[in-house]
Amino acid sequence: MLLLEAFPKLCEAILANSAKYLPMYDAALVQAAKKLYTSLEEEEQINLVPKDNIHFRVMGLPQCPEVHRSTMPRLKDHGKFLCIQGTVIRTTQQRVLEYQKEFKCKKCGHEFLVKADYDQYYTIKTPPQCPNSNTNCKSTNYEPIEKLGPTYRRDYQEIKLQEPVHKLAVGTVPTSLWVTLEDDLVDQCKPGDDITVW
Ligand SMILES: [Zn+2]
Repeated sequence: MLLLEAFPKLCEAILANSAKYLPMYDAALVQAAKKLYTSLEEEEQINLVPKDNIHFRVMGLPQCPEVHRSTMPRLKDHGKFLCIQGTVIRTTQQRVLEYQKEFKCKKCGHEFLVKADYDQYYTIKTPPQCPNSNTNCKSTNYEPIEKLGPTYRRDYQEIKLQEPVHKLAVGTVPTSLWVTLEDDLVDQCKPGDDITVW
């Protein structure tokens, strides 16, 4: 609520298009942390490491129907910031997931990035031939370049959320939804927990 009063435009942007703005705010926090770190005296920096993976998390939003849903979201809600309450009925094992990977062509040395395909269970599919547009290299021989950092790999878990049964009319079958959890949200709940997802 404080944030909403102080920066209404910032909050409006998150609510209308969280998929676009939340990563921007994450990046801004990383920048701010780095700035803070470099402003410190050398002896103050001892034992401190600026993090490159910080998340802007929103909670405690006003109880308005635009944000709070008592039923599972629909396709028209895609990209919007929502708050959904439910019971966790399943959790997958937590794992480290590769979001993108860099490769180097073994023939011409061209380096390129391949993003994991969310719709294909995050598989990383290399191109059928070298994507170097400057040469006519048609090589299909690539070697992966190992890179670290949150844009390459992150902690990952999926949970299945079911509508709270006590809120349903008698005889209604509860609907459920798979929710993707990343980084600090991984391993925070177990089956049977009643949770609120923002
Ligand atoms: Zn090549």
